[in-house]
Amino acid sequence: MVFERSFCLYCAKCCAPTEMILFREDIERISSHGEKDFVVFRNGFYRLRNVGERCIFLDEENRCRIYSIRPIGCRVYPLVYSFDKGPLLDPECPLSQQVVYTCEEVEEGLKILEKVLKMLESEYRIKINWSVFSVGKRDLLMRYCNKFE
Ligand code: SF4
Ligand code: SF4
Repeated sequence: MVFERSFCLYCAKCCAPTEMILFREDIERISSHGEKDFVVFRNGFYRLRNVGERCIFLDEENRCRIYSIRPIGCRVYPLVYSFDKGPLLDPECPLSQQVVYTCEEVEEGLKILEKVLKMLESEYRIKINWSVFSVGKRDLLMRYCNKFE
């Protein structure tokens, strides 16, 4: 899966606390592995539960306990979506500055992020400004793929 490399610093900035939004497929997949009581409804979204300001699935060594079945939003991180700027690598994650991602990773991440945004529209009725998405996508492709679309 995208960005699945060994560079993570396990600083837990992305998981402690987490605000990760969950989709139906996330909840079904994680539940089917026997996990319970990991969903909260907050500010209009189903999200991962925090326990003591940490994602319920974050272990004491800052590893994800459900890495192989983690939510789609966690899988695509540090690629995130800004409603103002479109897709971008989260400046909060140290890897966004330190790691040179490949063009293939960025393209794959953008495809997954597009799927996430479509699920935001269909499951949460959030209106996505696809022009903003295209601008951010173009910037990332220029930077990582030398593509000028
Ligand atoms: S913020 Fe980045 S470096 Fe830190 S744990 Fe998350 S993915 Fe790893
Ligand atoms: S599910 Fe895993 S990757 Fe996602 S926020 Fe929780 S600990 Fe982090």
